[in-house]
Amino acid sequence: MESKSVGIVGAGIVGLAYATAAADRGHRITLFERDRAASSASVRNFGMLWPIGQALTPSYGTALRSLARWRRIATETDLWLNPCGSLHVAHEDDEMEVLQQFHAAAAAGGIDCQLLKSADVLKVSPLANPSGLRGGLWSPTETGVDPRTSVARIASHLSAARGVDIRFDTTVTEASTERLRTADGRMHRFDRIIVCGGSDVESIYPGLLREQGIRRCKLQMLATAPHSVPMGPFLAGGLTLRHYGNFAACPALAAVKRRVAGAHPELDRFGIHVMIAQNQDGQLILGDSHEYDDDISPFDKAEIDDLILRELHRIARLPAWSITERWHGIYGKHPSSAIVRTEPEPGVHVRVATGGAGMTMSFGLAEEDWATWDR
Ligand SMILES: Cc1cc2nc3c(=O)[nH]c(=O)nc-3n(C[C@H](O)[C@H](O)[C@H](O)COP(=O)(O)OP(=O)(O)OC[C@H]3O[C@@H](n4cnc5c(N)ncnc54)[C@H](O)[C@@H]3O)c2cc1C
Repeated sequence: MESKSVGIVGAGIVGLAYATAAADRGHRITLFERDRAASSASVRNFGMLWPIGQALTPSYGTALRSLARWRRIATETDLWLNPCGSLHVAHEDDEMEVLQQFHAAAAAGGIDCQLLKSADVLKVSPLANPSGLRGGLWSPTETGVDPRTSVARIASHLSAARGVDIRFDTTVTEASTERLRTADGRMHRFDRIIVCGGSDVESIYPGLLREQGIRRCKLQMLATAPHSVPMGPFLAGGLTLRHYGNFAACPALAAVKRRVAGAHPELDRFGIHVMIAQNQDGQLILGDSHEYDDDISPFDKAEIDDLILRELHRIARLPAWSITERWHGIYGKHPSSAIVRTEPEPGVHVRVATGGAGMTMSFGLAEEDWATWDR
């Protein structure tokens, strides 16, 4: 295979995944990142590698291939990787029915997951709230990474060990066939260009998000002080069933949505569902909410944090709830695709990971693209 020169914009997880796959294939890569270190969605997320949230076909397979590459890169770079698995807990009958329907389809598709009775949920998760607990769905596959450290570590590794030329503090202002222009006015020539600017891709291609049917989505997040005890599997509550595409085919989901919309319109208004992860330092990472486009304010709402915490209390019992950090992140959201792929000019590929799955999917999606390009 002929080695090509490749220019990549953005050192978030998507840019890094495309750089990794290109380096695996012997290409020569220059990566431009406008900040001193990536500081957008790729460092602000839960750190959940979450195949169980993907549609059973074809995304689940891509997520597993992505996870396999995460494991290899973790070995290469000595990254923290936590094979903790995931637990969806049901505190309402309709939620349990969705889990049962999902489990039947997943088992038929060969996906490794198990329905648990309440007593067994409590054996797997020290955090699950026993009050009103109907049962849960356990999957051993989901894996934790620490976004705060892993993205920077992967960038350093690509630069030090894989020969990738990473230029931080370098904004790309223009992309065209075989050429990138940086803010200092210099022009750089490449055989192939990949623009991975996340929800800020419009700094290069104004109007692209709307043209592609992508909405900007803001999520509020919180973190507790470190807990010395491992929390066990990631925890997701029944509200999460409304959020991930994998549950969309379950007939019982309509009843969950109706109940929530009727009893708690404030949850729909702010797109609230609740999940818990734990990072390398033991902090519990809590979230989240979803506000779109014109509703996105630079300022976070205390009301949203209060609702997230209210709903978390329903699903989890924490020894202490002292919140030490609050922040928000923004990603692009598309109604059906995990990634939007477009080629605004010949040889210039824009890749926007959409929804809450960029950490999960990027390495698998990048490998698929490179396999096509190098065919
Ligand atoms: C709160 C939150 C929680 C999430 N939780 C999870 C999760 O648990 N699991 C999961 O799989 N996914 C999760 N996601 C989604 C995931 O974080 C994103 O899909 C992913 O990080 C997107 O990566 P990216 O590289 O496309 O974008 P970004 O991380 O936004 O990176 C884009 C980079 O491009 C740079 N850039 C932009 N324009 C230019 C330019 N003109 N020149 C140079 N550089 C430029 C930016 O500075 C930035 O560093 C979550 C997202 C959020 C916000």
